Amino acid sequence: MSMWIDRYLVPPDRRVALDEIDPDDAKSLSKKQRTTIETDMQDDLAELRALQERLFAEKTRALLIVLLAIDCGGKDSTVDRIFSGINPQSCVVTGFGVPSDEERAHDFLWRIHHRVPRAGMIGIFNRSHYEDVTVTRVNGSIDRDTGLDRCRHIRAFERLLHDRGTHVLKFHLRISRKEQADRLRDRLEDPTKHWKFNPSDLQGRERWDEHQAAFEDAVNATSTDDAPWHIVPANSKWYRDAIVTRAIVERLRAMDPRYPPPVEGLERYRVE
Ligand code: AMP
Ligand code: MG
Repeated sequence: MSMWIDRYLVPPDRRVALDEIDPDDAKSLSKKQRTTIETDMQDDLAELRALQERLFAEKTRALLIVLLAIDCGGKDSTVDRIFSGINPQSCVVTGFGVPSDEERAHDFLWRIHHRVPRAGMIGIFNRSHYEDVTVTRVNGSIDRDTGLDRCRHIRAFERLLHDRGTHVLKFHLRISRKEQADRLRDRLEDPTKHWKFNPSDLQGRERWDEHQAAFEDAVNATSTDDAPWHIVPANSKWYRDAIVTRAIVERLRAMDPRYPPPVEGLERYRVE
């Protein structure tokens, strides 16, 4: 069934330009459309919780959600919003920073594989193996060809995950350059956000175009039927959250996790 969010899906067989997705797409919606999407989001959050419980009870498969965005793109707040309503016991969030010496002494997927959610869990990667084909490209530690070669390894890796029951959903949160400026300024001005400010964000901002080129290559080289990318217009937080939530619910519905069968002879047991 075709969904309204499908327009943000990166098809495996066609190259998508990031510019095709307006970060301010939400602004083109009517008031009525907005109300409908916001109401549906509440239903989706409730359904997500129910599906998550079945996934946890079934304990044979897992779901991995990958977030990719430029600084201030909204990764942390997406995690906060979407997972506030689900059971923390069956959900694990992993952030990836600059690789340690030990991590650097291995292949780039070594530290990633180790953090893939176990059966029954929903895992969220706040940054991921996609830093190894984007940030690294922007800072000059690898070139484009090496990045594309790594994407080939990523496709094989994600196929392995899928084949053993770990479904993968990937979201590129797309904000505009102006929105990033507003959010960075906010971090400088709001004392409760000072802790989030990192001077390196400003250097990253100077390389906006290089980031976009690397994101575009990465999502196009690695969007597959099994592990698709959505490019999410993310200037409006409510719209971003609605899209991500809907995509997760859709995938979990398709996975259709089942409660395991009860112990044998359940009907013979009595609580006295
Ligand atoms: P944050 O997510 O804001 O806490 O910052 C994490 C930092 O780690 C960012 O500056 C990323 O660019 C950096 N980082 C994450 N993964 C990698 C990687 N594979 N190679 C280089 N830098 C990375
Ligand atoms: Mg940061």
